[in-house]
Amino acid sequence: MKSEVLCPVCDSNQHKVKYEPWIDIQDPQKLYGAASGVPGTQRLVECENCGMIYETPRFPDEVILQGYLRSEESGHDSQYPMRVESFYRTLLSLGSRIPAKGATVLDIGTAGGAFLDAAQKFGYQAVGLEPSQFLVEQGRKRGLKIEQGTLDNHPFQSASFDLICLWDVIEHLTHPKAALEQIQTLLKPGGILLINYPDIGTWQAKLAGRRFWWIISVHLHHFTRQTLSTICQRTGFQVFHFQPYWQTLQFGYLEDMAILYKIPLSRVLKQLTPRLIQQIPIPYYASQTTALARVKL
Ligand SMILES: [Zn+2]
Repeated sequence: MKSEVLCPVCDSNQHKVKYEPWIDIQDPQKLYGAASGVPGTQRLVECENCGMIYETPRFPDEVILQGYLRSEESGHDSQYPMRVESFYRTLLSLGSRIPAKGATVLDIGTAGGAFLDAAQKFGYQAVGLEPSQFLVEQGRKRGLKIEQGTLDNHPFQSASFDLICLWDVIEHLTHPKAALEQIQTLLKPGGILLINYPDIGTWQAKLAGRRFWWIISVHLHHFTRQTLSTICQRTGFQVFHFQPYWQTLQFGYLEDMAILYKIPLSRVLKQLTPRLIQQIPIPYYASQTTALARVKL
């Protein structure tokens, strides 16, 4: 059963409805068992105090977490080299804003470990944390250092990382504020937090309205640059940089995503696309934003 939750940023219960659901799905495995989620199942509200957009009412935390743990997705894998490349280019573009080579890096919710691969190539000593046993094993097969666990249950010492990354994770967390507080204890003094998230404040998101492609059942929270800054501020961080996140995936994979999201004619288009063209790398921007924050002194 769903129940009301308070604003994840400011704990207010004053909100107005932003989008009503248009599909009724109550099976938690369907809602939370796949990273791609389901569109149109949530009632999203906007906090009248701080502007945060979030789902309420929603399922209890345990139900959501169970769905994530059972998730066994390997669909991402065909695009693994492309993902590594996108991450690597982002690290290069962040330049001197992020710690120099040799730094210790923790990637939370590392999935198959593509970011760890990029971070190693960049010269970091990188370790990942991932709740799904299946994904941990996949990453370890690639020779990556990954611990199975969550922020509540992990083997790391406090103050041991120069950089901690949340790539497409914060919007999934049942308690993002508590998570950021825990992350703060894991960072060394002067450490940097990187958060990559789907931004509901972009013009693309506003144009798409309730059909914004990142409004899916697994995304419990929708940040803008402003509300992301606020949640960081409230947990002892100061955001000092934002940039749009450009990703590169193969054309054929983007066609598959279009089919998944039922975009008209996408199935026909895929059938008509020659194999060589399906392999062409396509850079695209889908409203994801990368933010950097540092621990407030
Ligand atoms: Zn609020």
